[in-house]
Amino acid sequence: MTELTLDLLKEKLSVWKGCDLAKNANPVLGEGNPHATVMFIGEAPGQKEDELKRPFVGPAGQFLNELLESIGLKREDVYISNVVKFRPPGNRDPEPIEKEQCMPWLKLEIALIQPRVIVPLGRHSLGHFFPQKTITEAHGKPFRLTDRITVFPIYHPAAALHNANLRSSLLTDFQALGQFLKTLS
Ligand code: URA
Repeated sequence: MTELTLDLLKEKLSVWKGCDLAKNANPVLGEGNPHATVMFIGEAPGQKEDELKRPFVGPAGQFLNELLESIGLKREDVYISNVVKFRPPGNRDPEPIEKEQCMPWLKLEIALIQPRVIVPLGRHSLGHFFPQKTITEAHGKPFRLTDRITVFPIYHPAAALHNANLRSSLLTDFQALGQFLKTLS
């Protein structure tokens, strides 16, 4: 039997038409360290991500890179993905059905990476793990998901691009994330 790998997932996603968004957008699977301890999960690709078929490579991605560097991490150290694998037209919010249709890909990525910490970026991603929590109350704090996995929600970096308060909140939350990572054995 063929072993499931991230490369194989990418190949399968490239021909998958199980979500209406796939008709008009390029597939964007996650990328990064296949053995990452930390996995960041955003909402959906934007324009640049669609063009390059890579997650978080536009302005929000640049800020995410800065945030990672602020706690001594590089993109290559972590795994970065999205709930929805195709760009919604005009960057609108993804519909619940689009999140649901794309969910098997994210589940497979999580199963392959086996991260210790999952960082949902923003409310769409948080909603998948803890539908009852809001990002405003949950950001910057660890929540136990399973014996092995902790969820550490953070605001979406795109939301902070034009909002100085959110920007400083993200920087603070990343410091807290950095401290939390040090406690992992
Ligand atoms: N915003 C996201 O949620 N994901 C990306 O990949 C880029 C911007």
